[in-house]
Amino acid sequence: MSSAVLVINCGSSSIKYALIEADPEAPRLAGLAERLGSPEARLKGENSRGESFTLPLSGADHTQALQAIFERLEGREPSAVGHRIVHGGEHFTQAAQIDDTVIEAIKETAALAPLHNPANLEGVLATRQIFPALPQVAVFDTAFHQTLAPRAYRYALPQALYRDHAIRRYGFHGTSHAYVSQRVAQLSERGNGGWLTAHLGNGCSTCAVWQGRSQDTSMGLTPLEGVVMGTRSGDVDPGLHAHLARQLDWSLDRIDTLLNKESGLLGLSGLSNDMRELEQAAGKGHEGAQLAVEVFCYRIAKSLAALSCALPQLDGVIFTGGIGENSAFVRQRVIELLPHFAFSLAPERNTATIRGAEGKLDRHEHDGPQVWVIPTDEEGRIAMETRHCLEAL
Ligand code: ADP
Repeated sequence: MSSAVLVINCGSSSIKYALIEADPEAPRLAGLAERLGSPEARLKGENSRGESFTLPLSGADHTQALQAIFERLEGREPSAVGHRIVHGGEHFTQAAQIDDTVIEAIKETAALAPLHNPANLEGVLATRQIFPALPQVAVFDTAFHQTLAPRAYRYALPQALYRDHAIRRYGFHGTSHAYVSQRVAQLSERGNGGWLTAHLGNGCSTCAVWQGRSQDTSMGLTPLEGVVMGTRSGDVDPGLHAHLARQLDWSLDRIDTLLNKESGLLGLSGLSNDMRELEQAAGKGHEGAQLAVEVFCYRIAKSLAALSCALPQLDGVIFTGGIGENSAFVRQRVIELLPHFAFSLAPERNTATIRGAEGKLDRHEHDGPQVWVIPTDEEGRIAMETRHCLEAL
């Protein structure tokens, strides 16, 4: 039997997939089924020769799209499927093999992630329908942060809200923070020390990791808390909700849309949620873009400084995600805004870092904390956790 794991990230109208062999160097088959449920539904991907393809799937639902994905695996049958599940609540501290009990628990957690968990579960159920014999594993975005201590995960709210309604900070992007902090421990002589990680993509979060365990993170009950993101506001005064409701008569749904879809880089710049576009516009003098990029960097620096309180020592910071891996400007500005940490970023190394490269960006060997860029590999991590979970049984 093959040792390949099919990694599935199922959204409400999309399925991202990757077929990953145990050998990390082996080529991956990967792609995306999108606009599911609409006449424009299609499957885009790459074959093993690196050639891209687009397949129309007009009107396809998740099950039909998964069937089309399985047919595109060039006869390489996966031995297991690893699913990205956004919210595992307090129930899941690690990956779990999917059975009826696990499905029930994921359903119960849906109240905490109403947009994500039901869509993730649809992928699980569709896979079960097509391949009932294939073992499936759920890998949770929240699980890595289940090591947080109460001082980091509790909100200063009445106890009953935690006790009866599970209202606490959970944190997300766990597979990414776990992957880059484990990778730096292999690459840096500082090993498994105290690391600050900044996952900066469309969603953004920061994390403090001590000896491989998450100590604190910027996201909370939902992925809205924390730093500024593409279209999400990150932290705002919680009093804003009451203010908008009272002064502008805004409904909860309207406020939710504002904070999740119309804010962040997009809202601040009035131009775009895309960092590439904003950097270009800022360079040409667009004031909204300049402000958005500066607020973005300042809030990341502030978040990293705050999270350093969770670490007994600081060995370095790791940048990852589309922005963290590719934007030399953002990395440099964030480091500039943390002068008291005595980082020693080499500007030429920072700007010379090409897409997909991993490495240390320091000017020279020094005693202070290091600066690293490490491309994240959430899919590889999900495949690894899937294998470990099944081997442990
Ligand atoms: P997601 O969180 O959806 O996986 P990514 O991790 O791909 O998203 O990150 C997307 C972000 O990365 C976008 O804001 C995009 O503009 C930014 N990005 C990608 N390449 C660059 C680049 N060369 N310079 C600056 N930003 C970049």
